[in-house]
Amino acid sequence: MSEKRLRQPIVAVLGHVDHGKTTLLDRIRGTTVAMKEPGKITQHVGASLVPTEVIEKVTEPLKKLIPTVKLELPGLLFIDTPGHSIFSNLRKRGGAVADLAILVVDVMEGFQPQTIEAVEILKQRKVPFIVAANKIDKIPGWKSIENVPFLVSVRHQDKSVVEYLDNRIYEIMGSLAELGFDSDRFDRVKDYTRQLAIVPVSAKTGEGIPELLALLAGLAQRYMKGRLKYVEGPAKGVVMEVKEEPGYGTTLDTIIYDGIIRQGDVIVVGSLEGPIVTKVRALLLPEPLQEIRATKKFRVVDEVSAAAGVKIVAPNLENAVAGAPVFVVSDESQLEKVKEEVMKEIEDVLIETDKEGVVVKADTLGTLEALVQFLKSKDIPVRMAKVGPVTKRDVMEAMVSKRMNKEYGVILAFNVKVLPEAKELAEKEDIKIFVHDVIYKLIEDFENWVKELREQEKRKELEQLVRPGKLRILPGFVFRRSDPVIVGIEVLGGTLMPGYPLMKESGEKVGKILQIQDKGKSVKEVKAGQQVAISIKGRVMVGRHLFEGDVLYTDVPSSHAKLWLTKYKNELSEDERYVLNEIIKIKRKTDPLYGLAVGT
Ligand code: GDP
Repeated sequence: MSEKRLRQPIVAVLGHVDHGKTTLLDRIRGTTVAMKEPGKITQHVGASLVPTEVIEKVTEPLKKLIPTVKLELPGLLFIDTPGHSIFSNLRKRGGAVADLAILVVDVMEGFQPQTIEAVEILKQRKVPFIVAANKIDKIPGWKSIENVPFLVSVRHQDKSVVEYLDNRIYEIMGSLAELGFDSDRFDRVKDYTRQLAIVPVSAKTGEGIPELLALLAGLAQRYMKGRLKYVEGPAKGVVMEVKEEPGYGTTLDTIIYDGIIRQGDVIVVGSLEGPIVTKVRALLLPEPLQEIRATKKFRVVDEVSAAAGVKIVAPNLENAVAGAPVFVVSDESQLEKVKEEVMKEIEDVLIETDKEGVVVKADTLGTLEALVQFLKSKDIPVRMAKVGPVTKRDVMEAMVSKRMNKEYGVILAFNVKVLPEAKELAEKEDIKIFVHDVIYKLIEDFENWVKELREQEKRKELEQLVRPGKLRILPGFVFRRSDPVIVGIEVLGGTLMPGYPLMKESGEKVGKILQIQDKGKSVKEVKAGQQVAISIKGRVMVGRHLFEGDVLYTDVPSSHAKLWLTKYKNELSEDERYVLNEIIKIKRKTDPLYGLAVGT
């Protein structure tokens, strides 16, 4: 084997629901089936290999149109299940197992929430990607030609149709720019290391698929050779799915991204309870497609080398989790080291602290990792992060957190169930549980809730503050002289509400507003310019303490004035601010620290 041998890049497909991920993968797989001799296709578990000879045949018509490179790659390994969830699980410490990705965007719809989420995850994991602007056949007036390169098809379209397409592409470029990416239609890209390529395709008609495959292979070969160097050592892989298989027990659908795994190898598998050390009983690949009459789903193989999707049969796999590493132990002396490595991969993701922070639960290690990283990037602290359903213990952790900081006394649950006893306790203790299957939505829901909570707290605090207000007792409108005083007034400035204490211009206190009545009806609030009747409770009497024509102010406590001057300075109207300044002048005559230090 030459030193230069490269392994197949692992390619994942991401994008918003219904934008055509599955159809695109089917089309790529279908191309392979159509172009290879029956029985010669190596089947993988959870992945499909597109061999170099197929890529070469498909991209043949491109040779006359754009510069293409001679392929040294043995092909491209596509992960069969599209979506960010499976992509998140194809993880390794500090990165992704997928080498490349296709971001599928419906050219008619443009970016949608999960498109943004996909880009964020790709960015987070530093995975290079190509954008497939899918469904070009739906562009009004587009005349499809099955299975030809986009560059051929586009020549047959009317000018206005091409313009329409370009406008849609500009929109996608705009959305990508918002997320920090420079991009362009692939045939206008000058530097593939700096700009993302957008390939117009139709998963339905096959238009543009040649360019998509050529670009993926070309990019991988040109810029990722170091990463794709084939290593003949012990295998490294990651669990895609833990599956019960009749006759085999618990098995692991695994993507091998490095080295070789053989039947009989000792492997270490990550689990939430600690490393599982076990021995490979069998390695299974699917039966070739053509064996229609095959009675079994799988065939047994002796060994598998990267990159590959394989089902591992071994004892004691019950506790394994998706997203966990599977490492082959080359010899006994390495066992402890490998165990440590495996646990490090897992411990990076699981969090358990006694600090304030949200409680995070997710269905797999990969999605948990993605979620925690998003939270970290938003400076939201995490108290606990675990895989599995929401339990009573989680609610209790959130209760502890809530005592330290109301905003973090919550549970964020991605794609997991909430156990009934957890739900019950959460309801009783008023612990909010957010559940969603789009990470970005989950965080958004939480952030909106925090905003609402802060708004509510603010409203509550504001309601308790005495606002600045100024009034004049109207001459001739004394309805009752005492106990309580009832007088007609005009609001000269600011706001008056029942319950507000009043003072005279001298600073002398004169009781509290009991009620405000406007044309016989009791009201909660009056503003500058209004003329109403108020009753005043306290030991005051018109003619002794108060006189017709007197000007009164609301007796704003010093601590309230301080808040009006700082935290809530934007919550006062202009005339309230004016009145507050007058109140401050009155108050500072006797209390120089009024509104500055906390006092009354
Ligand atoms: P996914 O949710 O992203 O996997 O989307 P699917 O592959 O299931 O596609 C969603 C719908 O769009 C299906 O009805 C597909 O037939 C349709 N579709 C996918 N690709 C194309 C395309 O290129 N052209 C057209 N016209 N329809 C497409």
